[in-house]
Amino acid sequence: MQFRDLNQQYQCYKEEMDHAVAEVLSSGLFIGGGKVAELETRLAEYVGVKHCVTCASGTDALYLALRVWNIGPGDLVFVPDFTFFASAEVVSMVGATPVFVDVDATYNIDPSDLEKKIQKALNEGLNPRGVIAVDLFGLPADFALLRAITNQYNMFLLEDGAQGFGGAIDSRKACSFGDIATTSFFPSKPLGCYGDGGAIFTDNDDWAALASSLKVHGKGSSKYSNVRIGLNSRLDAIQAAVLGVKLNHFDTELQRVNEVASKYDELIGTSRVLCPMIPKGRTSSWAQYTIRLENPIIREELRKAFQRIPIPTMVYYPTPLHLLPVYKELKDADCPNAELFSQTVLSLPMHPFLNQSEIEHVSQIVSDTVAQCV
Ligand SMILES: *Cc1c(COP(=O)(O)O)cnc(C)c1O
Repeated sequence: MQFRDLNQQYQCYKEEMDHAVAEVLSSGLFIGGGKVAELETRLAEYVGVKHCVTCASGTDALYLALRVWNIGPGDLVFVPDFTFFASAEVVSMVGATPVFVDVDATYNIDPSDLEKKIQKALNEGLNPRGVIAVDLFGLPADFALLRAITNQYNMFLLEDGAQGFGGAIDSRKACSFGDIATTSFFPSKPLGCYGDGGAIFTDNDDWAALASSLKVHGKGSSKYSNVRIGLNSRLDAIQAAVLGVKLNHFDTELQRVNEVASKYDELIGTSRVLCPMIPKGRTSSWAQYTIRLENPIIREELRKAFQRIPIPTMVYYPTPLHLLPVYKELKDADCPNAELFSQTVLSLPMHPFLNQSEIEHVSQIVSDTVAQCV
């Protein structure tokens, strides 16, 4: 059993995929070209925003957004404490300071802790500029509340949709909720390519133009008239071709992972395991199916039980950001949920090609192991 079965996915779309990649190879256009532009149009349409600007990774996409808003030294950016490192790393990359905010039972940023920490920063005479809200494990954050807060304090709202692409709140798609939203096409993300890739989404014409310049060495009207310091961060044509094929099948896969999640919910259903909490109106893209155990000992017992079979499971994330060595000067961030969750969560195999007996097997291991723990 695979944690995320990219091989089976390739076998399923092989003919279409090989054809799309071969087309790029014989075109000789490896950077840019029509494939990338076509993909950007399709992605913007899918998400329901005006502009999609692709780039070389989800990390670069976040970095580009902060550069577009000129966020830098002296600025505070509020980041959930329980997420992949890159969500905070980019804040440090531009010279600004991350402020870690606790998460709630959905694993997403807790709006009430956010507001408390913004007020504390203001009382200390600091300069809150933006909030990065992560759609963790595929579940869109609480953007109604977050938007109210960023409006009140006149801050930017950046949606890190690296895991969220495909999710929704009511009929509105993830990656449309931030002033700028970003995603990642890392192979194991909901929409993944065969290498690194990323994109930013926005309705703002000026920001899209600025991001397009920054990602190609700060180009001006031509490539060799540089008007600002940028970077080299382009999605290549082969990855665009791969993503084009995967996008054709994306909604079918999305439906399938939602069925897998419902099956897990139903079969694991014991009061001693917390299945993912999906608030009303929200749809997850199921980047991960993450359960939570009563205590760290049971989590370790369960992890070992899966290892013995072996069935792959993962701990996302083993360390809250404020306890990472690199952020030792920020270790006093008050984030008790993030600390607890890092010791009690476990992500189970999740992908569109899991079959009924595999789902039953995984669920059985969870139920049996937990029942044996006192
Ligand atoms: C994967 C991920 C990123 C970084 O994306 P890359 O394409 O690997 O650079 C950022 N934020 C979150 C929440 C992620 O899961």
